[in-house]
Amino acid sequence: MLKLREVVILNKYVEEIIEKVKKENPGETEFHNTVKEVLTSIAPVLDKNPKYQEAALLERLVEPERTIMFRVPWTDDKGKVHVNKGYRVQFNSAIGPYKGGLRLHPSVNLSIIKFLGFEQVFKNSLTTLPIGGGKGGSNFDPKGKSDAEIMRFCQSFMTELYRHIGQDVDVPAGDIGVGGREIGYLFGQYKRLKNAYEAGVLTGKGLTYGGSLARTEATGYGLLYFTSLYLADNGMDYKDKTVVISGSGNVATYAIEKAQEFGAKVVACSDSNGYVYDPEGIDLKLVKEIKEVRRGRIKEYAEKKPSAKYTEGCKGIWTIPCDIALPCATQQELDLESAKTLVANGVKLVGEGANMPCTLEAIAYIQENKVLFAPAKAANAGGVATSALEMAQNSMRYSWTFEEVDSKLKRIMSDIYNASKNAAKEYGHEGDLLVGCNIAGFLKVANAMMAQGIV
Ligand code: NDP
Repeated sequence: MLKLREVVILNKYVEEIIEKVKKENPGETEFHNTVKEVLTSIAPVLDKNPKYQEAALLERLVEPERTIMFRVPWTDDKGKVHVNKGYRVQFNSAIGPYKGGLRLHPSVNLSIIKFLGFEQVFKNSLTTLPIGGGKGGSNFDPKGKSDAEIMRFCQSFMTELYRHIGQDVDVPAGDIGVGGREIGYLFGQYKRLKNAYEAGVLTGKGLTYGGSLARTEATGYGLLYFTSLYLADNGMDYKDKTVVISGSGNVATYAIEKAQEFGAKVVACSDSNGYVYDPEGIDLKLVKEIKEVRRGRIKEYAEKKPSAKYTEGCKGIWTIPCDIALPCATQQELDLESAKTLVANGVKLVGEGANMPCTLEAIAYIQENKVLFAPAKAANAGGVATSALEMAQNSMRYSWTFEEVDSKLKRIMSDIYNASKNAAKEYGHEGDLLVGCNIAGFLKVANAMMAQGIV
């Protein structure tokens, strides 16, 4: 009886915090959703451990340690002045310096940065490495900008950001719209402003100035390492499976590469305009040539490859029958309707390569229908884990070989998989990796916060 009362009261604690977050952060829908998702799934831990409520741990957890918002003025090639919004949300430093990417995309706003930052806290905790959580970016649209415009924007962005970051303070990295080129410009400006070579202040750097081998491949490869363990536990593998992967950016490209290496047939990929379906299997060399080398549109793939068909609009990609679906493009790209189609078409696993690509309703439907679901926080943690390996190499002033980094990545993905699986089992949700990864990620951060007092 007492236990039942405790459960009710402690679940009420979760409900209260969810309501508080909605009330105190009006209009931040993405942030509300992620808080709801995480807190609901860690309710079993709170039921068992009233000490967290006594220490107001959730109240502290949902409030970023620091939110920085600033203006980013820059000049285009014609001399016209533009102003964008810049953000850095330093969410939690309980287990290490804030760490998380910078996103440059017109959709960026505070809610999106907070949702990504909150997720990052638990993801980073799961990596087994000492990194806290943060995220940043700008509503700047890099599409169609010249190199010189990108450089001027990055320099302006860093001119404010540099005073808030540092290799032991906050270590940004790439995300949507921020690749090697942007990291280079950001690093160059940081170095100039600080007059110091602090290689560990940014990750995703080029190999000539402190970058790590295998970082480019890490998120996509990590997703494949993680999901193949999950498949294996359920008596399956990638060999001869039909796979649909959305996106054609960094994550998607290397997910396609590893899936093909594992013997799968990847039949579709996309960009923000539409998708290509190639029943003969995606020609990755051609995708790389279009997207990485020429920064072109995926539409061109179908113009070059007669077996492929291009369809305008992104959502239709999930109507292609497949065994495995890996959303690797952007948040909330796979909704309930798409989940229903995938399930009806016999999908066996959905693995999130992007951050929060599936809506909450889609996830619920996928799980209810006994389809394996690999959640982003765990499944795409390979990128940030390898960023932490880049920081480790920078601290040592030494670099590991591709094989050394890749084997560490494999081990980390396996540790994340096992930690998620075991936490789910321990708290009565066997087989539910979403609950498991949230619990495993939460426990490490929560216990570090408890040990450090009320801060
Ligand atoms: P990129 O910018 O390299 O690529 C994003 C890709 O998604 C592009 O092909 C883009 O098309 C496409 N895209 C954008 N919006 C949509 C849309 N609405 N529908 C369909 N496709 C779309 O980013 P990344 O590959 O690095 O990141 C992808 C996702 O993975 C993001 O959610 C990111 O947060 C997450 N992630 C990335 C990590 C990394 O290491 N890179 C680590 C962990 C998570 P277009 O070319 O038209 O813009």
